[in-house]
Order: sequence, then C-alpha cells, then structure tokens
Amino acid sequence: QTAVTAAASAAYRNDRAHVVHSWSAQASLDPVVVAGGSGSRFWDESGRTWLDFSSQLVNVNLGHQHPKLVAAIQAQAERLCTLAPYHANEATAEAARLIAQAAPGDLDKVFFTSGGAEAVENAVRVARHHTGRVKVLSAYRSYHGATAGAISLTGDPRRWGAEPGMPGTVKFWGPYAYRSAFHSDSEAQECERALAHLADVLMVEGPHTVAAIVLESVVGGNGVLVPPDGYLRGVRELCDRHGIVMVADEVMVGFGRCGEWFAIDRWGVVPDLITFAKGVNCGYVPLGGVIISERIAQTFAHRVFPGGLTYSGHPLACAAAVACLNVYREEGLIERVRRLGEELVRPALEQLKSRHPSIGEVRGLGMFWALELVRDPASREPLVPYNATGADNRPMAEFAAACKDRGLWPFVHFNRVHIAPPLNISQADLRTGLDIIDEALNVADRYLVQ
Ligand code: PLP
Repeated sequence: QTAVTAAASAAYRNDRAHVVHSWSAQASLDPVVVAGGSGSRFWDESGRTWLDFSSQLVNVNLGHQHPKLVAAIQAQAERLCTLAPYHANEATAEAARLIAQAAPGDLDKVFFTSGGAEAVENAVRVARHHTGRVKVLSAYRSYHGATAGAISLTGDPRRWGAEPGMPGTVKFWGPYAYRSAFHSDSEAQECERALAHLADVLMVEGPHTVAAIVLESVVGGNGVLVPPDGYLRGVRELCDRHGIVMVADEVMVGFGRCGEWFAIDRWGVVPDLITFAKGVNCGYVPLGGVIISERIAQTFAHRVFPGGLTYSGHPLACAAAVACLNVYREEGLIERVRRLGEELVRPALEQLKSRHPSIGEVRGLGMFWALELVRDPASREPLVPYNATGADNRPMAEFAAACKDRGLWPFVHFNRVHIAPPLNISQADLRTGLDIIDEALNVADRYLVQ
C-alpha cells in the first residue's frame, strides 16, 4: 500500500513538473492521478471512485477495460504491433469493412487517421481536391479539433488562440432554438430560418467557390444541439444544388452515442464524407478517419490521394475497432441506447427540470444529453457567462465539485452539464448518477436571481 501511494505521489510530482495538459493554465491544475478503471467507473490510489458520466471525453463508449477490446489489443500486439500504411493487414481491412457496413448510402471507403482533428483535415483536403474549390463553411458553436485547419473551422473560443487560422473558412449560424440567432419561436421556424440564412451566406460567398460545408450532425461539445427535423436534409439539398461536399463530423456522436450508428441516420440523410474517431474503438488506441462516398473516392482512383500518416490504419487501433464494432452489434447497444434514452433518461431529466428552476432546457437523445443551467428561467440568462473562467465560473465549478464529492464525474462546459455515460452503463448506475446530479443541482438553484 505504502509503495503504491509513493508511486502515485511520484506520478503527481512528475506530472506537475513535466506534463502540459490541454486547454488550461498549467499553474491552476490539480489532476487526479487515476489508478485504474472498470466499466463505468474509475478510481485513484486512495480508493476514491467515480461513476463516469462523461465517458472521459465522450469516447469510452464501452466503459473502461472492456475484456473483448483488451483481448483484441493483446492478440494483435502478440502478432504484429505496427505496420507501414502501404501494406494491407487483416485488422485494418476488417475495421474498414465494418465501418463501411455501418455507414449510410455509398460511403464505402475509409482513410484512417490517428484522431478526430486529422480526420477533419483530410476531409477538407479531399473536398478541395474533388471540387477544385477552396472555401469551407462551418458553424458557430462547433468544435472540429485543434490542428491548423480543424481549429479554424471550430466555432468556439478554442479557435481564438489559433487565429488568424486557415484561409478560406467562413462561419454561419446553425439552429439552436433555445438561444436562436434568428429570433425564432418554434423549432420549425428555427429550421426554416437557419436554412434561409445558410442559403444567404452561400449567395454572398459565391456557392461556386465553396468546396465543403462541415457540420456536426448533433453538435457535441458546444451544447448537444439536436437539429430540428428537416435541417440536415435542407443542408443536403443546398450542397446538391451547388455541387458542395457535405461533411458530417461524427467524431463525438458516431458509433451509437445518439442511438444510431451515425447520428445523421436519424434523419435518413446521406452526407458525402463522415469524419469519425472516439467511439470507433473507445479510444483504447488512438484512431479516427474519414468515410468517403464511392463517387468522391473515384476522384482518387487515378489521381494521387492527397494525404498520408505513418500511423494510418494502425493495426493495434484497428484490432480494437473490430472488437468494438462487433460488441456494438452483438450486444444490440445501438437499439439499447435509443430505447433507454427515450424511456429512462428523457423522463428522468424532465423530472429534474420540474424540480430545479436552474435548468433552463433539457435536450438530447440516446445517451447524449445537456442540461442548460440558467440564473433566471424567464430571461434565460446563463448560470455563467459564455467562455466563463475563474471567479465567473464559480457556480459551475461548485456544481462539478458537488458531483465529484458524491462520486460522479460530470461533463461540464460553460453553463451546461452534459450527460454522456458509457453506452453499456447499467440502469442502476444510470439512476445513481442522475440522483447525484439531482442533489448537486441544489448548488445551481442557489444562484437563481430572486
Ligand atoms: N470533431 C468533433 C465533433 C469533436 O467533438 C472532436 C473532439 O472532441 C474533434 C473533432 C477532434 O477530435 P480529436 O480530439 O480526436 O482530434
């Protein structure tokens, strides 16, 4: 026990001395040294355990240490750890086959990357080569990754530190009825106005200069914004009318998170390219990629594909993907997520809303939900301002601490709590987590304006 604790404190010291963590002022950090995890829980050396309602970064869809994924990685490691991407191998080929099988329409070819941002970079490059055009449109309130192009497409404050960014990027407003950029008063009106706005942006940009429209099928990190029915189909029609490549960024919501293989399937819309990562193999080994329609893939049949990565199609990562995709299918997880989302999570969250006036809106689907917290339900003033840090963020920091003290690891961003547990979480754990959120919301209620 003493030796283990000494190792943990050395890990803490070494971390603070040498590790630079993402998106944070380093001096203020106090990371938990995680000792292990299993299923929907992880723990530190002292025995503190948390139920993971964020699936880490919304990627550990099957929880920690799923035995089939661990076994697949071990078996591949015994056989062959790595390979240059110009070779073929069983794990990579089978992963690509399973991904193509899950993807809608004629999206049948996969270019593998090591994560989501690289997937977005390559999707943009494919679209530019295919169309011979340069501009790329993306939405405010979006996240597409932190590499040069992907961060330029991102429509949240994380882009600010990377500006001026990639030339040729243009932003538009997507639908978000609760805080409408179009002053709409219904979902139907929001849909209609958001599409009219996008058509206007295309008109003034010159649609013949636009290679791609990149958008999250369901906006993830920026608020679990579920588009109104008809929106994605409308975007598809605009893309068709102007010969623009439609890129669905499914890095966060692909592979079951929303109760569909890909979130866009809910609306029966087939994009030209899908970017994926995270849930493809739960991030046990880094993996992402772009799924490419047959039509666009033809462009590169006799022309050089304009991208490459040493780790493209990495066998260890792909072996984990094969195991993971098979588990989704064998355990009927996609259907389970759809059913539990509607039968258990939605009613439970609506109940929370009726008890806690600090909840302005509940939205989501499957195992992907947001509670938008407000100081005043009438004015919808957010509990903390957009991009709050430090003292401004106190109410949310206190809410998160209340969750962690009670054994729940929440996902909080600005004034929102996201609920994104592993897709195979037990119903009992789901209820336990929701009960903890119920208690912690008393903290948020204390900040309501009187
Ligand atoms: N696209 C979306 C929709 C994401 O949510 C993310 C990450 O959260 C990314 C792209 C970037 O993925 P990665 O962090 O693997 O580069």
